[in-house]
Amino acid sequence: MVELKDITVAFSDTIACQNVSLHIQKKDIFGIVGFSGAGKSTLVRCINLLQRPDYGEVRISGQDIMKLNEKELRKKRRKISMIFQHFNLFESRSILENVIYPIRKDKISKKEKHKKALELLKLVGIKDKKDSYPSELSGGEKQRCAIARALCSNPDILLCDEATSALDPTSTQKILTLLRELNEKLDLTIVIITHEMEVVKEICNKCAVMDKGEIVEQASTIDLFSNPQQDITKEFVKKANRFWENLERLQAKNLAIDKKEILAELKYFGESTTEPFIIELYKKWEIETNILFGDIDFISGVPVGNLIVTFSGKTQNLDKVLESLEDKSITINVLGGIDGILF
Ligand code: ADP
Repeated sequence: MVELKDITVAFSDTIACQNVSLHIQKKDIFGIVGFSGAGKSTLVRCINLLQRPDYGEVRISGQDIMKLNEKELRKKRRKISMIFQHFNLFESRSILENVIYPIRKDKISKKEKHKKALELLKLVGIKDKKDSYPSELSGGEKQRCAIARALCSNPDILLCDEATSALDPTSTQKILTLLRELNEKLDLTIVIITHEMEVVKEICNKCAVMDKGEIVEQASTIDLFSNPQQDITKEFVKKANRFWENLERLQAKNLAIDKKEILAELKYFGESTTEPFIIELYKKWEIETNILFGDIDFISGVPVGNLIVTFSGKTQNLDKVLESLEDKSITINVLGGIDGILF
């Protein structure tokens, strides 16, 4: 759906994006995460050519849109809508008029335009606000209106530039739920740029991490959370995952591990989160487990379990336990304990 190849954008002495390549597939909810100034907005503006790259290619549904003339580009842009942190609504127009705005010049009757806008307001849950003005709406309602307006031209792609950053946590949650529903119902491809890893965790199936104009890491959201490679990714993941915070806390305590114990981190996904594997370890191998920290998180809708545990028991049985856990697709990361066991 979106293919960016070697995108480079420079502003006088700042290189905002450098050789950025991304591949976003149809129906992805793709997160681009990074600190302020990383180049996210510049990059996302390249997708609809609001920002023309100095170098590189932008392909939408296989078409090189940098080769389009003005008229063709205007047509293409209708298929790539955008919403913003501060909503960008017209304060002097009613909610209904705001939504109609992108299709105001379309060659369809006024009645049809009204019908379409009302359908969209219903879809985003604020039909009753149609005659209100933006100043009379809450932040969450304003963003709903902006989303309805963005959908009026039947886009294939919705670009979200820090769309929930001005909202409180409850409204953020509701807007993210709405975006996920729209992705499902309308087969909408969504690109989200954010500095909040919570947003990525909540709805993105894939994510790229941007730093100083470059993509430093990209993966499925689950992989990114469970196995972050770069320091900056680890920093972002820590903010949205209590596991890391707790692991650091335990490590800071300089946890004294008994010589016969293993301190380990266990990660398990999906179905394995419901299996009573700890009791099995005791029954089968007489291995005792002490849970120091436990959490089940939802990462793009998939349950992910995180435990920090100590195992204690006979050395030869501990070995077998580690094997048996691996057979259950539970990832084990041994943090400390008995020497001489192969992990
Ligand atoms: P982000 O969205 O990650 O906060 P931006 O894409 O807005 O990052 O900015 C990346 C860098 O490019 C920053 O250093 C910013 O100051 C610079 N920049 C962005 N837009 C312009 C512009 N129109 N003129 C000059 N510098 C710009």
